[in-house]
Amino acid sequence: MLDEEIKKNIIKCSRCALCVQNCPIYEITKDENNTSRGLICKLLGFENKQLQEKEIKKDLKICLNCSKCKTNCPSKIDTSLVFAYKNAKLSPSKISQRIFLSIKLLPIKILYFLNFFKRKHINKNSSKIIYFKGCIARAQHKKTFLDNFQTPEFLCCGLPYLSSGDLKNYNKVKSKNIEIIKSANQVIFDCASCKSAIEEYIELEKIDKEKLVFFSDILNKNKYKLKNNSKFKNKTITFHKPCHLNKNDFENIENFLSNIENLNYKRLEDIESCCGFGGSYFIFHPIISTKIALKKAKTIKNSNADLILTTCPSCTIGLRYNQLISHNFKKTMELRDFIEENLEVKNHEK
Ligand code: SF4
Ligand code: SF4
Repeated sequence: MLDEEIKKNIIKCSRCALCVQNCPIYEITKDENNTSRGLICKLLGFENKQLQEKEIKKDLKICLNCSKCKTNCPSKIDTSLVFAYKNAKLSPSKISQRIFLSIKLLPIKILYFLNFFKRKHINKNSSKIIYFKGCIARAQHKKTFLDNFQTPEFLCCGLPYLSSGDLKNYNKVKSKNIEIIKSANQVIFDCASCKSAIEEYIELEKIDKEKLVFFSDILNKNKYKLKNNSKFKNKTITFHKPCHLNKNDFENIENFLSNIENLNYKRLEDIESCCGFGGSYFIFHPIISTKIALKKAKTIKNSNADLILTTCPSCTIGLRYNQLISHNFKKTMELRDFIEENLEVKNHEK
């Protein structure tokens, strides 16, 4: 994102404040400097040379980049991307942060390297429908129904690099992804955060956003039932909506879960609430992150569900952390893995 694009975005703000009420950080701090409206006002002040760099750096760092403000913004401002870019530009990653990020990504890279030689996760068929298998799904090396699509060698969606201020590696990853997406007819995602991160930059490249679909689009083409050996027969399941999952994809997932025989789907209270984990956010802002997590833990406890599903590996870790601090342990899984292990197709749509 260029400085010009950042400026074009922030001058569109009408100060309507529709972004304030859903901001998970504002909910905790009650400080308007932490909201999208507050950050935009400060960025404008900085552009007009009324504010100094140090006066906005702290507020930019506290943003979770959850995109909730973008969803509510009538001016369609690319809020989270603007804040992440501006933060990366004003606070580029230092050597210590790069080392930290490398250590954080090391287990994923080692597992990825091992799996690279097994080649089980790579499906190089000639289909123009591609499965964007994210870095953690690759590292876990679980083969699922989504591996029937072509799974090329994506590096990463780029979000870990952008949020740590490493614009060099972010741009490298982004260029490679754009090249692959341009050559595909359709790209299927099973991680809400990867899809949202890529949607943000392909919009700037003027690539058709409709090419990117969430796997919930495929699910509702079939009816599913529990496998005989599934231990979830007549159990209650619930779903944590990742901040980056859009309304349409969420509705498809709810529709899918509600239609599985012998399984009770229960919607979580306060469905829009964040898990608080935000990749490495909880390491740099442990108090805010834990306060958000405790709120989420309460809604999970109130659901009395036997199983919590979600569609983002970072949220899966966040939900396990919620349960650890609230001593309320529930099985937590990625929806993709739950389907693979517990469901089978009942009948095809005519
Ligand atoms: S991206 Fe999320 S945390 Fe940041 S200002 Fe917007 S709603 Fe608040
Ligand atoms: S919702 Fe959009 S236009 Fe309204 S104050 Fe927030 S950022 Fe500005």
